[in-house]
Amino acid sequence: MTHYTGGCLCGAVRYSIDAEPIRQLLCNCVDCQKQTGTAFLSGLQVPSEAVSIIGAMSTFTMPGGQSGEPMHRRFCSKCGSPILIEKDGTGRRLIMAGTLDDKSQFKPTVSLFCEQAPSWVVMPTDTENLPRYYT
Ligand SMILES: [Zn+2]
Ligand SMILES: [Zn+2]
Repeated sequence: MTHYTGGCLCGAVRYSIDAEPIRQLLCNCVDCQKQTGTAFLSGLQVPSEAVSIIGAMSTFTMPGGQSGEPMHRRFCSKCGSPILIEKDGTGRRLIMAGTLDDKSQFKPTVSLFCEQAPSWVVMPTDTENLPRYYT
């Protein structure tokens, strides 16, 4: 059963997710600020095998991201919309919440790297707000 569907701005990349998210999070780290072009990333962490994708994506791999391990940031080859982030060997993918067809499905429970957020960002009161990554 498909729980979630979404895609990029131009429609060339479409995906479906057949699982409930492991985590729903916000990331305020400086790398995510750069990649999303805005203040923070919003994403759903899901089992890798639950995600079906059609359409061509390009990948930027950062050798040692905020976690110290290579991060693959994948985006639509045509319009550039960020689609997902994954690390080798984790079995999980982080799907960009802004690409969901139904935005009301996204309910973040944790904010990461709060210490790197711009001073004007107001942290949600209903998320666990961590200074960096999970400890
Ligand atoms: Zn696109
Ligand atoms: Zn981040």
